[in-house]
Amino acid sequence: MIDINKDIQYVKGIGPKKAYKLNKLGIFTLKDLIFYFPRQYEDRNNLKKIIQLENEDKATIKAVIVGVETTSPRKGMNITKVDVRDETGYAKLVFFNQEYVKNTFRSGDTILVFGKVKKNYKNIEMTSCEVEHLTNAPKNTCKVMPIYPLTYGVTNKEIISIIKSVLSNEELKIKEYMPQRIVEKYKLCSIEYAVKNIHNPSSKDALKIALYRIVFEEFLILQLGLFMFKNGITESDGIKFKENEKLKDVLGSLPFKLTNAQNRALNEIIDDMQNNKVMNRLVQGDVGSGKTVVALLALADCVLNGYQGALMAPTEILAEQHYISLTDTLKDFGMRVELLVGSLTKKKKEAVLERVKNHEVDILIGTHALIEDKVEFDKLGLVITDEQHRFGVRQRSKLSEKGNNPDILVMTATPIPRTLALILYGDLDISIIDELPPGRQPIETIAVDKSKRDRAYNSLVRKEVEQGRQVYIVCPLVEESEAIEAKAAVDLVEELKLEYFSDLRVGLLHGKMKASEKDAVMKSFKNKELDILVSTTVIEVGVNVPNATLMIIENAERFGLAQLHQLRGRVGRGSHKSYCILIYASKSEVCRQRMSIMEETNDGFKISEKDLEIRGPGEFFGTRQHGLPELKIANIFKHMKILKIAQQEARYIMGEDHNLNGFENKLLKKEILDKFEYAVREISLN
Ligand code: ADP
Ligand code: MG
Repeated sequence: MIDINKDIQYVKGIGPKKAYKLNKLGIFTLKDLIFYFPRQYEDRNNLKKIIQLENEDKATIKAVIVGVETTSPRKGMNITKVDVRDETGYAKLVFFNQEYVKNTFRSGDTILVFGKVKKNYKNIEMTSCEVEHLTNAPKNTCKVMPIYPLTYGVTNKEIISIIKSVLSNEELKIKEYMPQRIVEKYKLCSIEYAVKNIHNPSSKDALKIALYRIVFEEFLILQLGLFMFKNGITESDGIKFKENEKLKDVLGSLPFKLTNAQNRALNEIIDDMQNNKVMNRLVQGDVGSGKTVVALLALADCVLNGYQGALMAPTEILAEQHYISLTDTLKDFGMRVELLVGSLTKKKKEAVLERVKNHEVDILIGTHALIEDKVEFDKLGLVITDEQHRFGVRQRSKLSEKGNNPDILVMTATPIPRTLALILYGDLDISIIDELPPGRQPIETIAVDKSKRDRAYNSLVRKEVEQGRQVYIVCPLVEESEAIEAKAAVDLVEELKLEYFSDLRVGLLHGKMKASEKDAVMKSFKNKELDILVSTTVIEVGVNVPNATLMIIENAERFGLAQLHQLRGRVGRGSHKSYCILIYASKSEVCRQRMSIMEETNDGFKISEKDLEIRGPGEFFGTRQHGLPELKIANIFKHMKILKIAQQEARYIMGEDHNLNGFENKLLKKEILDKFEYAVREISLN
């Protein structure tokens, strides 16, 4: 048997020269090499016709060779061009300084070519080509091509061939380290199968099975390591709420039935609440997925148990909206809901505070005002923060300190870095609402260049208003100050009234207005006394006006993707088809990319992932710095569900075998220690 920890320079077919290059990729041992996983795959089953090729595509075509020619435009440089055709057109394959390839092409041969397309009018060239001769090709090979993360000096082809030769060695055995119980429970494939198929998939299904195993394993190891080294599991005693039949009545009084996803989240929350330990749960649901009603039911359950609940929202508008909708539903059940926001008069505030302290209020809803020192509860049982990304961790804990280990629920529509960190650090459970209420039509998003602004205003806005719908127009984001932003909003309203909508009712909302003014505007928009609401980002979060069907965002390039998604989420909340127009004034490639992501998807999880992708891995995925093992394939956004399962399993394992000293966990523990080597060293130094 081959020693998997063998130095790669002694591996057959590698030698010191190649080893030196591989070292630069962090590959020192045979194990490093076989666990050097592809970053992505290219699906070459998906053939294109030459006529379908677009500039910048990476594509595979099947074509016949027509001719080959090498030229030498200057000394030390030669270019080989291979003419190919299919039944739809002609293309040239271009090779720089690879004259030797010339001999491999024979006119009349059929080849598969994978390469990058450069298209200039009718002139089509392909560069960085990889060619496969069809006549000699083994049948039934899976044409999913691994792409490795590389640095200078090693090509993808080289890595593929090195790994292929290593893995084809019969004497190589990769020993399973995952406990048999887990392999069976989650139907994982063996590590050997996973490794082989990740590098050289025998079929698409095999690749899927292999990836699942590795994703699961990476998350499990990460979670177990975190529990072992950083957190431990804090199991402080919390409130044990009792089941209350009346909750069904509250549920029954709602004007709709919960979606399956809402039901699932609610059950997870209620289970936690009835459990002895403190609930620490994150509800992630896309904009419009109906998180509020889940919060309402949790709060109702808390009140039915004789406790008080608190709901904190990032803006007054949102707090007030929650206040109205909760009061509506809960007053019939005798529950007393109050609002506490900064703009209340001192007298009114004091009265509310007094009543909260005396338990004459059951549910207190508000903004940051809730965490002020003078807010005291009689018996706080549940704390909910909405749109959690707007609050710091400290603010959240300040609110929960007002009770005696109250249960904690945080809700977010934007998985952002802090959330990410919380997930990573494993101190939150996660519920996912991945389903929109029935009857919603997806929002259609169209990004247009500034030159088309006129048309958006003249035709689209009018059309919606004529049909009785309402429109939001969001002003450009101004980073410098809220005052400048407010001024821009005022100017925009003037312009719109003057140039486009002299006959329509246009309202204005910005951060410099008094809360009472904001309220008045919001109310008249809700009551359909306004056709158009021009606003700064104060409406970003949570505002709910189902009759609004068109969202126009000016200078969309200034907003982050997550923010655009939030803004867009203000429409598409009723049964009417809704639109979002992004007007942009930048010609940059990044802008174009971002706009097309918004056009392509309505999925908030995907958007945050893409956002991070475009902005680069950033400090959050530079996990090595934090002493965390690298996630090679697992992706916190993409594989959220698997993460959740792995997290649960990690908790279970820790509960059974706190230090992983049990015989069945021995090999897994060694893997964890290896992967967390840095972290362990740090800890032993401290
Ligand atoms: P978000 O998750 O963005 O906070 P909201 O809680 O504001 O979403 O809900 C958006 C809209 O969907 C609200 O008008 C709410 O009344 C409605 N809604 C929520 N759940 C359902 C459901 N199960 N069926 C129909 N409509 C629902
Ligand atoms: Mg909400």
